[in-house]
Amino acid sequence: MNVIFLGVQGSGKGTQAKLLSEKFGWPHINVGEKFREHIAKQTKLGKQAEDFINKGKLVPDEFVFKMIEPALQNATRGFILDGFPRTEKQAYFLLDKFTIDICFNLKLPKSVAITRIQARRHCSSCHKDYNLLFNPPKQDGICDLCGGELVQRDDDKKEAIEKRIEEFHKTTKKVIPILKEKCRFVDLDADRPLEVIHKNVIEEIKK
Ligand SMILES: [Zn+2]
Repeated sequence: MNVIFLGVQGSGKGTQAKLLSEKFGWPHINVGEKFREHIAKQTKLGKQAEDFINKGKLVPDEFVFKMIEPALQNATRGFILDGFPRTEKQAYFLLDKFTIDICFNLKLPKSVAITRIQARRHCSSCHKDYNLLFNPPKQDGICDLCGGELVQRDDDKKEAIEKRIEEFHKTTKKVIPILKEKCRFVDLDADRPLEVIHKNVIEEIKK
């Protein structure tokens, strides 16, 4: 089965994708990770993408799609996408070549998303991620693994978050109707414990 998780940052879509991947063995394809992989390995696509980024431009949708396409093609039993498609063009690229069986839309009120993202911390030395709400360190402000100082990314401060959320809703509003036309579309309340949401996802998959 080919599955998409849509959702704003903080909605837990990455966690849900990971849990579902563990349950059924379908690969979890995260676009951000693929991106970083290509750049780190300095592949042709990675270099091209880097070029756009260095010029302060957005990486064009066809490049983004090309980065994940091989992984989708290799996943003959099914795949789980998280963070894709973000734009209308990406949605058309995807649906032109692949069938999507179900799309989960994790809905979260803006205020809750902001609270969750603001609670993110990471270790300044080993880079382990924490969330003060869901997985706090044993000692305030100190990394469990290495004793390093926990810090907040500039990106995770309130004004930056609000801007990202607005941007997300603006683009997603255009992607949703395209997906609705081509696959089963299920809205889920993301303001619930992750195990409850996971159970809900499994029920929908089995329908
Ligand atoms: Zn650390």
